[in-house]
Amino acid sequence: MNSPRDTFVLRNGYEIPCIGFGTWQSPNDEKTIDAINVAIDAGYRHIDTAAAYDNEEAVGKAIKGLEIPRSEVFVTSKLWNSERGYDTALKAFDQSLKKLGLDYLDLYLIHWPAARGPEDEWQKTNSETWRAFEKLYKDGYVKAIGVSNFKPHHLEALMSESEIDPMVNQIEMHPGFPETETRDFCDLSGILVEAWSPLGSGRVLDDDRLLEIAANYGVTVAQLCIRWILQNGALPLPKSLTPERIRENADVFGFEISKEDMHKINELEQFGMSGLDPDEVTF
Ligand code: NDP
Repeated sequence: MNSPRDTFVLRNGYEIPCIGFGTWQSPNDEKTIDAINVAIDAGYRHIDTAAAYDNEEAVGKAIKGLEIPRSEVFVTSKLWNSERGYDTALKAFDQSLKKLGLDYLDLYLIHWPAARGPEDEWQKTNSETWRAFEKLYKDGYVKAIGVSNFKPHHLEALMSESEIDPMVNQIEMHPGFPETETRDFCDLSGILVEAWSPLGSGRVLDDDRLLEIAANYGVTVAQLCIRWILQNGALPLPKSLTPERIRENADVFGFEISKEDMHKINELEQFGMSGLDPDEVTF
């Protein structure tokens, strides 16, 4: 890959640009619109939002205002936990589409497995939600469907009932949290992994070991993290509202991390995590 516009190919053949622009904690106003414009100028062609981020209007306005056609920007949104279920999911999708001002989404994800309480209950709710996702996909309102924060046991339950398997799983992944078990499961199942908090939301950026490795390549730790995710075959979703950082995070194609350094980073002890365990979160 040579640019953020280069793509991974999903199991259904649909192409997804290899770096996504994150928007969690980006406000529903001009700041986000400006940031998306900077991102598009820097080469990003993929924007990640969610109903829960409460910024779909701003994301939609930014997309409408671009000089490039809608078909050249990949847009993801996510269904919030309280809207799971067949009818509620279809309604929530409609609302997201309206807020975004779009007539289709490129990717729609179940935001969390919400796997608390009796196993058969959350499994049933997720399966019903997935039936709605399959309908949206078959009806052409969304080009690809997937999940987020699903561990192997959540995926296994969903896939035992599904007609169409998830194409993407968006999970926390950064140096200090490689999520090898979930990634191995996804690789074997043909599910592309997207990495949320690729910079650990900023928590891994001053780690001395990463600073030393990054310095050897003449890059920043943020660039090292993003490159490390790509070289692990996953799709990073860095977020920034700062123009220089937005550009910096897309500029990761002029160096290659050696096998030895990949191994060193893969093997770092756990650190920098959000602490949000998909089996434990209460929302
Ligand atoms: P990131 O790991 O992308 O880090 C973002 C933070 O790092 C911000 O504070 C940003 O500041 C700062 N930053 C960005 N680039 C640089 C840089 N080059 N140098 C120094 N600091 C930098 O965090 P997020 O947690 O936002 O995750 C990224 C995206 O993943 C989200 O925006 C969202 O789209 C997705 N996500 C999905 C979740 C899910 O459950 N599916 C959960 C969490 C995130 P500033 O903006 O001020 O520049």
